[in-house]
Amino acid sequence: MPKITFLGATGTVTGSRFLVETDHARVLVDCGLFQGLKELRLRNWDPLPFPVGKIDAVILTHAHIDHSGYLPRLVQDGYRGPVYATIATTDLCQIMLPDSAHLQEEDAQYANKKGFSKHAPAKPLYTTEDALKALSLFKPIPYGTTISLAEDLTLTFRDAGHILGSAFADLRLSSNGHTRRLLFSGDLGRPNQPILRDPHTVFGTDYLIVESTYGDRLHGDENLKTALARVINASMERGGVLVVPSFAVGRTQELLFTIRELEEERLIPELPIYVDSPMAVSATQIFLKNRQDHDLESKVLTLQGKDILKTANLHFIQTQEQSQALNAITRQAIIISASGMVTGGRILHHMFHKLPDPHNTILFIGYQAEGTRGRAILEGAPSVKIHGQIIPIKAHIESISGFSAHADYNEILAWLSSFNHAPRNVFIVHGEPNQAQSLAKRIESNFAWQTTIPTYLSQYELD
Ligand SMILES: [Zn+2]
Repeated sequence: MPKITFLGATGTVTGSRFLVETDHARVLVDCGLFQGLKELRLRNWDPLPFPVGKIDAVILTHAHIDHSGYLPRLVQDGYRGPVYATIATTDLCQIMLPDSAHLQEEDAQYANKKGFSKHAPAKPLYTTEDALKALSLFKPIPYGTTISLAEDLTLTFRDAGHILGSAFADLRLSSNGHTRRLLFSGDLGRPNQPILRDPHTVFGTDYLIVESTYGDRLHGDENLKTALARVINASMERGGVLVVPSFAVGRTQELLFTIRELEEERLIPELPIYVDSPMAVSATQIFLKNRQDHDLESKVLTLQGKDILKTANLHFIQTQEQSQALNAITRQAIIISASGMVTGGRILHHMFHKLPDPHNTILFIGYQAEGTRGRAILEGAPSVKIHGQIIPIKAHIESISGFSAHADYNEILAWLSSFNHAPRNVFIVHGEPNQAQSLAKRIESNFAWQTTIPTYLSQYELD
């Protein structure tokens, strides 16, 4: 009988990994890195609870590291099978997996230099070479094309509207003459976003694995542009620098798109904007290359000859030296840098320099997972540890949830309302415990469907 095992994204938004077993195949849906709390990060070092050689295929719903970033480790452990992903996810992984490897290598080097690793010498979780090997295994599949993974298993990707290339993994499993549909939402995006297409409408499935990042929250009514104009103008009045930690992929492009609109409408001044992430530069190029994957509004604008992601005074920062030179800027500028949850990357040195000054503003535009520096700063911690030093937090802290790439609970329920029959079971994943429980209650009271919140390593039969 087909089975599913939950190897991550249980009680947390990170480490998405789900093993699906049929009579003829074992596939891993998503292969993500755990981030945030230390007890979760340590799981990245644990071997999977079965031999890697027994996995026939890996399927990625999208390129975010908490869904793709364990892949190089899987390859280091001997995985050589295919990795199925959409075309844009494949393109994005070409920059994201080597970048993730680079961060792992830098962390290990830094720990060795400062001598604060318990392991001597500290080793990276994986290397650039592992990441490059992983990239050679990718098999890009267009949206809507059904491929056979085994005689009893097919896969179709459907647009999830979360980031460029994001998809639902739509599986059909046959066993004893029955076919069952098993749908993974991956990260579920939001309708009516400026750049991405809306999530694909689904009319039903036998089993659903759905995310719950915002399972008890609404994004609020404040218009996104109004909110951003308010934060930018207030931050310039405060006189300092506005620092925005942002995922290099997706959020940064939406942010540039919105700032450009605000400038054109003269709702904010034309400020120098520094995008300090080599990955954001490549990601922006991939965005412009994969035009078929985003929606009409942006297409029309590019056809009119406008560069939709280019603000009036925009600087893409490439080298480490250019990045460090930004430390000298103390007023009237916006710095956008990764990682979005302040867990690593160049944002760390910007936070190091900008957090202690009350003239500066820090703006969060994405979800901050439990245990990350971003979450601590957002929740009002008096200080935060960066590179082994305690940094006082005096800067003004702001957050706008309207840029979120995740559906809130009303948007999730609206997406589910097009289902014309009850799933046999709805597995609720990718949320902290309160979020998952809250979504389960809402699904039960709105639709009377059976829901399950799986625990780490739990297994269910799909009969
Ligand atoms: Zn995501």
